[in-house]
Amino acid sequence: MVTILQNGAQELRKKAEEVPVEEIRSARIQKVLADMRVALESQDDGVALAAPQIGVSLRIFIVSKAALLAPEKLTERQKEKEWKSVKRELGYLTFINPVLSRCSREKALLDEGCLSVRPLYGKVKRSKKAAVTAYDENGRKVARGASGLLAQIFQHETDHLDGVLFIDRATNLRELPTARVGS
Ligand code: ZN
Repeated sequence: MVTILQNGAQELRKKAEEVPVEEIRSARIQKVLADMRVALESQDDGVALAAPQIGVSLRIFIVSKAALLAPEKLTERQKEKEWKSVKRELGYLTFINPVLSRCSREKALLDEGCLSVRPLYGKVKRSKKAAVTAYDENGRKVARGASGLLAQIFQHETDHLDGVLFIDRATNLRELPTARVGS
């Protein structure tokens, strides 16, 4: 069991540090990644998580590959199986020392929540498209462009690494007992 920190915890407000690239394959960093997967799997509605959310002030976030499925497909699979096992089966994308780039000027006002700011939801203006360059769990350089949910996740998660929470940017904040998608 890995605890996900809630708003108010100091670790969520720190600027996280870069991971030395030569340490990515070390037992220490691999343990952080394993803990992040456990924490994310424990949340039925979670699709992404940043290391500061488990109290580790390093520039790392992971995204469930379930976030890449089309929303219709997601619901279908959720009906078939337990969400947790769907996430475990699909696996995760890992972004270490991510740099956000090519954020489109075109923005959309999107519903957003956060596993560390429960049970609040709000509307956040995010670029419709974004790209990230980073290192994966094996220390290989990766670049990925995204639109839709994944682009939103890139922006939400890189904010976490700078100590920014979505509530800093959100309008129309409200409590929602039945959570939708959180990260
Ligand atoms: Zn979050």
